[in-house]
Amino acid sequence: MAHDQPAGPAGPTKLVIRNIGLLLSGDIEKPILDADTLVAESGRITAIGRAKDVDTAGATTLIDANGTTLTPGLIDSHVHPVAGDWTPRQNQIGWIDSFLNGGVTTMISAGEVHMPGRPRDITGLKAMAIFAQRAFDAFRPGGVKVHAGAPVIEPGMTEEDFKDLAAAGVKLLGEVGLGGVKDGVTSRQMVAWARKYGIQSTIHTGGPSIPGSGLIGADVVLEADTDVVGHINGGHTALPDGEIRCICEGCKRGLELVHNGNERAALYTLRVAREMNELHRVILGTDAPAGSGVQPLGILRMISLLSSLGDVAAETAFCFATGNTARMRALDCGLIEVGRAADFVIMDKAQYSAGKNILESVRLGDLPGIGMTIIDGIVRTQRSRNTPPATKVPEIVKG
Ligand SMILES: [Zn+2]
Repeated sequence: MAHDQPAGPAGPTKLVIRNIGLLLSGDIEKPILDADTLVAESGRITAIGRAKDVDTAGATTLIDANGTTLTPGLIDSHVHPVAGDWTPRQNQIGWIDSFLNGGVTTMISAGEVHMPGRPRDITGLKAMAIFAQRAFDAFRPGGVKVHAGAPVIEPGMTEEDFKDLAAAGVKLLGEVGLGGVKDGVTSRQMVAWARKYGIQSTIHTGGPSIPGSGLIGADVVLEADTDVVGHINGGHTALPDGEIRCICEGCKRGLELVHNGNERAALYTLRVAREMNELHRVILGTDAPAGSGVQPLGILRMISLLSSLGDVAAETAFCFATGNTARMRALDCGLIEVGRAADFVIMDKAQYSAGKNILESVRLGDLPGIGMTIIDGIVRTQRSRNTPPATKVPEIVKG
């Protein structure tokens, strides 16, 4: 597939997906839907139901899911993009397109911090954030929606700076703590200014990731009060369990678990969230690219890890990377609901998995095989080049 793809074709389109064996909703309150047919018109879901009850006439694209499983496109809540589909962190090209082959259709930047020569002065950091927002809005590798332009706060920023950023289209802050602001009081003030102008925030939790980054403990995390507790399981160095529990219990913010973090701490956080009956707060990211590389299957691996070792139903674990994130971050994708973006992953049990079906295979710790990705109602990839091969794959009947 070509790298640079348009957001969508001109003119009305109607996508019909029939013969869906299992429909995962992304909604943690009701993760499995009783439906086998899905219709999307001009990139938006317009009908979900049983074939006999849905108007499937006039499809411009018709897909036979062949009894496989459909889930909302996966959302990676924590990436560090720089420019286009290149990352200087491990000097790789095509990493975003590779993530698409791992089912990721939306990415959220936690700061374009790997930019060589990243400006630290206020004018420079604002300019870079606006540039990144514009560039990734206009360029979608493989069709993936990269929400970028996430400035890292520095001392001396004023309310006016956040107002300017918001007016210029910036909607995110990069990880608090990766810049010169590391104390709770200043962080809290700047996060509040960001929130006032509609800019979402996240924070670096735990020990330093790489030389130059620093420790952020529970006291600063709670004082800063960002919308998302970024990598609460560390990136990689996690806080002591007592501090993780203190964060979970001390706020109602998002609890982000990342692939490039401490896996035991991720499982501990999951356990605390479940005890509190607050699994809706759990969201997933990779924190890629990072020192440990890029992981095209990182979100699938987190789903499998949390389900198999964390004792969570597979259909619930998929919600951590879809509906939970969409709701927390006010995205128009991530849930199978009329009106939402038609961003889907179609997958099946991997060949030779010991599980009887896809959910059991994930529960046993296997990864599913992806057979197709769809963004804005357009087929972007077919059999994944990265996952283990799916047992059954969907077929494009028309379009
Ligand atoms: Zn971090």
